Amino acid sequence: MEFSFTNEEQTFREDLRAFLRNELPRGWTGGREDWDNDVFPVAQQMRKKLAARGWLTMGWPREYSGMGAGPVAQAIFGEEMLYHRAPGRDQFGLRMLGPTLMLFGTEEQKREHLPRIAKGERLWCQGYSEPGAGSDLASLQTRATRDGDDYVVSGSKTWTTGAHRADWMFLLARTDPAAPKHKGITFLLMDMRSPGVSVRPLVNMVGDHAFNQVFFDDVRVPCTNVVGETNRGWYVAMALLSFERSGVEHVGAARRLLDDITRAARETLRDGRPLTADPIVRHKLAERAVETQVARALAYRVAWLQSKGQVPAYESSVSKVFGTELNQRIANTGMQVLGLHAQLEKGSPRAVLDGVLRSYYLYTVAPTLYAGSSEVQRNIIADKGLGLPRA
Ligand SMILES: Cc1cc2nc3c(=O)[nH]c(=O)nc-3n(C[C@H](O)[C@H](O)[C@H](O)COP(=O)(O)OP(=O)(O)OC[C@H]3O[C@@H](n4cnc5c(N)ncnc54)[C@H](O)[C@@H]3O)c2cc1C
Repeated sequence: MEFSFTNEEQTFREDLRAFLRNELPRGWTGGREDWDNDVFPVAQQMRKKLAARGWLTMGWPREYSGMGAGPVAQAIFGEEMLYHRAPGRDQFGLRMLGPTLMLFGTEEQKREHLPRIAKGERLWCQGYSEPGAGSDLASLQTRATRDGDDYVVSGSKTWTTGAHRADWMFLLARTDPAAPKHKGITFLLMDMRSPGVSVRPLVNMVGDHAFNQVFFDDVRVPCTNVVGETNRGWYVAMALLSFERSGVEHVGAARRLLDDITRAARETLRDGRPLTADPIVRHKLAERAVETQVARALAYRVAWLQSKGQVPAYESSVSKVFGTELNQRIANTGMQVLGLHAQLEKGSPRAVLDGVLRSYYLYTVAPTLYAGSSEVQRNIIADKGLGLPRA
């Protein structure tokens, strides 16, 4: 593995940082979810500006509306965006669907969708989970029945992030109910404006409206919107999941949260001395700082493997588990170090870090669940990484 960045990569990181410092609204403390009412208008503006520079999809090959800069540059983009808590990526389109279409899509699908993702014109959401199918995704019951040149889709998806904002959804539906459960599933692209699609909001425990339940009432989807082969959508779905788990975003978020907590600990006096004068506080912060560097190395290793044309499997899981659980440990450390005022909400005069730590403390549970829970990632690592026997 190469441990240093190229000159081009360094320059890009600096350009992006300067851009974010200039373009983010003054006093921006960040929004966790682009889809929430407070954040969405800023996300739309930022997305257009990033797209105009070609940065949204700069890692993509040139023939697919990218800049050919490769997976490491794409990872730098993700890390800096999350460090600055900057809205405007369409993670479902650019990090998940785009690379999947490059592998499995028809020429027509690539021509139709990839340029629109690159320009930030078409937002996507992910229709995998259902009320009875999360970790055991192959239990999904949404049906797609062939009728002439269309599939007719009925059923429901849940925890669908951004469904209330998205233009299109990629989803999994059962096309052969008689087949073994992994073998009768097809990967479809659906226009969210199709008649029969309805979206119901679900507000999370932080108070954000990011995810939803989506219902399909005999929605017609043209057969040309099947990605890969009919009934073999499981393989397409798993390739997409490996892209989803392989981001360096958790590391950007972790570095920023730790920097904020460390700064607050330096500025907070107890008995006339900063909290950081306490050796226990220093030790805790140092431990988290070391772990953050480990998480960063794990995440860039995944991007590096991708840049060598490999498809990381358990390596993405290692990075995801370590990065997401690290965010939880950092938020926890912040709560311990900064004390009871850290529990106060934004707007309270005594709130620590304007309530940011409080909301991240609650929010950092979510990434250990989505894209496959930590328990499920550990099963993958045990099986595919360590070669341990299945229970
Ligand atoms: C913030 C957020 C956003 C999300 N966004 C989306 C989205 O946009 N699109 C989408 O399709 N889904 C989305 N999800 C759903 C997410 O992918 C599922 O929540 C996740 O896959 C877990 O499934 P589940 O909730 O059904 O839990 P379950 O599968 O019911 O699991 C419950 C518990 O049992 C454990 N468990 C289950 N099976 C095993 C096993 N084999 N071995 C060990 N432990 C096991 C799990 O780890 C978990 O702790 C989102 C979830 C969250 C929290």
